[in-house]
Amino acid sequence: MSIKKRQLSKYAQDFIDDAFFERLLSKPAQSKALVREIIAKALSKQALTVEETSVLVAVDDKDMLEEIFNAARELKQKVYGNRIVLFAPLYIGNKCINDCLYCGFRSSNKESIRRTLSFDEIAQQVVALENVGHKRLILVYGEHPEYDANFIAESVRKVYETKSGKGEIRRVNINAAPLDIEGFKIVKDSGIGTYQIFMETYHHETYEKFHPARTNKSDYLYRLDGLSRAFEAGCDDVGIGALLGLYDWRFELLGLVNHALFLQQNHGVGPHTISFPRLQPASGIDTNTGYLVNDDDFKKFVAIVRLAVPYTGLILTARENPQLRKDVMAFGVSQIDAGSRVEIGGYTECGDAQVMEKEQFVLGDIRSLDDVIRQLMQDGYVPSFCTSCYRLGRTGEHFMEFAIPGFIKRYCTPNALTTLTEYLVDYASPQTKIVGDALIKAELGKFQDADTKNKVIDRLEKIKTTEQRDMYF
Ligand code: SAM
Ligand code: SF4
Repeated sequence: MSIKKRQLSKYAQDFIDDAFFERLLSKPAQSKALVREIIAKALSKQALTVEETSVLVAVDDKDMLEEIFNAARELKQKVYGNRIVLFAPLYIGNKCINDCLYCGFRSSNKESIRRTLSFDEIAQQVVALENVGHKRLILVYGEHPEYDANFIAESVRKVYETKSGKGEIRRVNINAAPLDIEGFKIVKDSGIGTYQIFMETYHHETYEKFHPARTNKSDYLYRLDGLSRAFEAGCDDVGIGALLGLYDWRFELLGLVNHALFLQQNHGVGPHTISFPRLQPASGIDTNTGYLVNDDDFKKFVAIVRLAVPYTGLILTARENPQLRKDVMAFGVSQIDAGSRVEIGGYTECGDAQVMEKEQFVLGDIRSLDDVIRQLMQDGYVPSFCTSCYRLGRTGEHFMEFAIPGFIKRYCTPNALTTLTEYLVDYASPQTKIVGDALIKAELGKFQDADTKNKVIDRLEKIKTTEQRDMYF
């Protein structure tokens, strides 16, 4: 059975040249001088080309690798400071017409318990998330006729309108199948933040192998073009990603950089975020792909992505275990999920143990939000629930204007401190509150601009002594 031709954007083109990537990746390690020149370019906050990225990928000398790691740490500090934005995934439905070989939701997996949350059930999950302090969610959907653009938009609205006590969700991102332009318009109107679509693998042959030809998702160009259709529909806040473990991670890295450059060149804005999930065990799947990425390569991958795309947020999910997350975070991650459950209904129904038949894959980090926040602060990070930029229209081109002159720190640190204080006052455990209060004091001590500092102190006081919330810069 062949799949029917679907509408593409006017930008649609297959810009991934496998042979070119393989040629770049077959080159030997280059001179230290050239590697350092490329690192210096990255540190001056300029995006790297695919060729330059491949030179970093080829580095295997221990000292030069250390220089790459140090540069990634430095660049993260320069652009993002020490804040880490927190979110949680909310799985809405796991019905799926595709049969991606790596996914627990694939149609041929008969062990999977299929379910779609009703709107009341969505509200129950949201209340549970708000009651522990979450403010930012990503809604996740299988691909199914039931999950069309109108359904996605309705579920987003349901999330925004559900409030519990002082709790509310202020930003809803989406991870779902690519839509047509009309569909993206409908979803945009519901007030979403980022629309994420992962290419999974940029390598054509591997893409074909993991996505059976009879399925919607087998159409490589339709998926690659997905975010260009989003842009055509007016969504200028998009996320890309690759599922590491299907093919050579070095190839995927070049694919991601190429995709980011393509979006930047054609739409004037790069992706807001890049995700790089590593393949995890899941119900009824074989993880024996021959391309699983070990921890050392994963760290190298993250450090090079950080250098290649200085202004793109990097997302590290709870698929990874706590120690690895801690190690990798320093190289440039800006967003993590915490207290996550990936079973349908998992926030109210599953207790402490993971239920494989209800989830898409097995999580490596199932600590509570409170535990993650305390650990982050003990490691010197400032956890943030900030949602200010997209609510003030600082997205897309505008967001880039703010990012490039280094304005992120000026807005983000104050917003991180106010949203963290909301968390500490409204939800934190006593131990977390003690650690948090000390951290906020230390962070206030670092402010150089007295005016901003006074405004922040004033807002923190209001949060502690009144019901006033959600004040942002
Ligand atoms: N169904 C939509 C799609 O395929 O684009 C929405 C997202 S899917 C539920 C979310 C993402 O999970 C996929 O894009 C894939 O990268 C990732 N994923 C699937 N199976 C996985 C596994 N076994 N381990 C880790 N990540 C996985
Ligand atoms: Fe369905 Fe997405 Fe899983 Fe593929 S990755 S089987 S499209 S839920």
